[in-house]
Amino acid sequence: MAGLFDEPTVAYAQVAIERGVDAFPDGLTYGIPERLSHIQPGHLVTVPLGRGNTPTSAWVLSIHQSPPIDTKQLKQIYECNNTSIQLPNDLLSLANWMSQYYVTPIGPTLSTMLPGPVRQGTGTTTRELVDLPDELPDVETLSEKQQAVINVLQSIPSDERPIDKPTLAKQANLKSQSAIQTMIKHGFLVTKRVTRIEAQWLKHTQSFSIPESLTDEQQVAFDAVNATLHQGYASHLLHGVTGSGKTEVYIRLIQRAIEDGGSALILVPEISLTPQTAARLISRFPNHKVAILHSTLTRAQRHQQWALISEGKADIILGVRSAVFAPIPEGNLKLVIVDEEHETSYKQDSAPRYNGRDIAIRRAWMAKCPIVLGSATPSMESWWNATVRKISTLHTLKQRAPGLVVPTIELVNMKHEFTGDGQDFALFSGRLIEAMHTTLNANGQVLILLNRRGFAPWIMCKERSCDWLMKCEHCDTSMVFHRKKPLHHAGFVRCHHCGKEQRVPKSCPDCSSDVVVRGAGTQRAEELLRTMFDIEPNAIARLDSDTATNASTIQRTLERFGDGEIRILLGTQMIAKGLDFPNVKLVGVLDADSAIDMPDFRAAERTYQLVSQVCGRSGRGAGDSLAIIQSRDPHTPPIQLASKGEYETFAHAELSFRNEAGLPPASRMVRFVTRNRDEQSAKGKAEALFERLKPLTKEHVQLNPPIPCPIPRIADYYRYECTALAPTSTVLQTFLEEARTYMTIGRELAVDVDPIALL
Ligand code: ADP
Ligand code: ZN
Ligand code: ZN
Repeated sequence: MAGLFDEPTVAYAQVAIERGVDAFPDGLTYGIPERLSHIQPGHLVTVPLGRGNTPTSAWVLSIHQSPPIDTKQLKQIYECNNTSIQLPNDLLSLANWMSQYYVTPIGPTLSTMLPGPVRQGTGTTTRELVDLPDELPDVETLSEKQQAVINVLQSIPSDERPIDKPTLAKQANLKSQSAIQTMIKHGFLVTKRVTRIEAQWLKHTQSFSIPESLTDEQQVAFDAVNATLHQGYASHLLHGVTGSGKTEVYIRLIQRAIEDGGSALILVPEISLTPQTAARLISRFPNHKVAILHSTLTRAQRHQQWALISEGKADIILGVRSAVFAPIPEGNLKLVIVDEEHETSYKQDSAPRYNGRDIAIRRAWMAKCPIVLGSATPSMESWWNATVRKISTLHTLKQRAPGLVVPTIELVNMKHEFTGDGQDFALFSGRLIEAMHTTLNANGQVLILLNRRGFAPWIMCKERSCDWLMKCEHCDTSMVFHRKKPLHHAGFVRCHHCGKEQRVPKSCPDCSSDVVVRGAGTQRAEELLRTMFDIEPNAIARLDSDTATNASTIQRTLERFGDGEIRILLGTQMIAKGLDFPNVKLVGVLDADSAIDMPDFRAAERTYQLVSQVCGRSGRGAGDSLAIIQSRDPHTPPIQLASKGEYETFAHAELSFRNEAGLPPASRMVRFVTRNRDEQSAKGKAEALFERLKPLTKEHVQLNPPIPCPIPRIADYYRYECTALAPTSTVLQTFLEEARTYMTIGRELAVDVDPIALL
């Protein structure tokens, strides 16, 4: 390899090591050898790294004509990995910003932007094409077949050549390619290898009804956003109750945005319903190209869709979180939409810990185009931006679209409901069971939500005086009992944090009494439903991450529900969002307050969102519909207000609480988490970090002393956290910029800017 360094250097490249550590935050400089003079910013290259010159992947950030000050150590780039991968300039500057904002090295940030299949070239095919040589070799006679081949090629304009062998054989009326092969051998034809990905547009055949006109409310919202199209950056918050026709507003805005050849980017949360939304968009834009980036695509398809976008062929780009990095050619982006903007799946839980919604805002700002954030239950952050900071314009849809009814909502207090043996609280209230019978008798369908999977969340001692509770050996959490099959007593226990399974002791290790399971997850709820209702076994189905192991299982179950084969669908929050089935006449929420006791300042917000979203699943067709919300504290404000649909009252109260407590969105937060198998090391690292960062906390940055995380140990790693709060993002960023030089981020230290999960 060293010999390559002898080649003349024609320019200099600033590169970022892909798996880069923070030691070179601005990248490293390498020489570009003459044979690689085509290298441009956004290319992925291999460079020699370190003393051993280990070949290492790196992104080219910029190209310079003048050498760096110190040229003595200068090495040359080994090779350019794949010239078909090139991140556009605006993504490079977005990555720079993200790397700063989320305190992550630039190399891994750039790699986050590129889907794995694109980088690995999945679905790429290499084909050998043929053409005429610059000069035909001298021969006396050509066979008839050979002359035919030459004639065909000569009749094709040179910019449409080379062509593939089967096409050539066919056009020259040849039965096989053997004449072509012989001609290649003797120099009558030349071959060229081309690599490309075979791209095709995804098709959906389902058709959707098109509303004739917008309602007055929809029209007002549409007009307001439409007025800002082609006018530079503008941020809009579309707050519309579920079923108020937000999607219809998006569709008409997309239509306007792409009319003159621009493209629109639509982000949807990572839920089972992405394909449904995609199908709806495709059916409404039969003459436009819709590229889709979601998890049910095959790897090859994901590569294809990315390539189509990058070639500027897509008018509409729809996808989940990472679609915010779609390589839309610069200048083409005219509208950004983030549906269900409050969804936590927009936040990535590994570095870079970015929020797709916030990146989307940044992208719209860079592209100088409007962005619409839509939700029935906007995040406190977006509500604050619209109503307090007024950096976003609020549009409200209060009414459900024509044809949809508002469900009646009843609250049931479970403190008064016990099981038959009086040992445990009941899971289903008498009222809910009665309503289910009524609905099923009237041929309606039922949706039951319980946000906890497994059979039972507690395995404990039967003796009330003994407090033994089965815990995970590797985590500070309790084990969850799972049944192997419904109505089958064999079971196992599993930790939902590290995934390890354990045996259930035959008797209590502390007092030798019997061991019992208490509480209920979706498996137990399913079992109860099967014993309580005398209906076909396949008329009851459960959807949670244990049954829905892949996207197609989810799709199949939803289809069976849509067909009416499934009459009771039970599930975790997976079924709370987006489902649109007109025959759902009853929705039951079990343990609606399960999130309230979470050690998370967003617990009330999550509870409000869950109750409100799930109630929105009822009443999507004609006739009466009902939602029954069971909880042990029906008077708690998020449940009360969600049941009345009083979002604004809830948001106002919640924001004043956050404001008084100095919590986001009234402030900006960063969370530092240290982890180590040794508890003292984890604690020591956190304390040392605190001491180092403390002197940097000027300008009202509040750095809280280290404490164990709410779950102090996960998978044998002890965890400590330090949080810092700043009045504004700018103040927080100034603090982090300085702090960055005092930290080594990696396995033992994670930094989460604008954290969402606080466990
Ligand atoms: P959201 O996105 O707010 O949940 P959707 O846009 O999905 O609401 O609309 C819910 C249903 O109402 C859809 O079936 C949609 O076709 C229908 N709909 C939306 N707007 C109108 C309208 N203006 N007139 C009639 N039906 C409408
Ligand atoms: Zn565990
Ligand atoms: Zn005991």
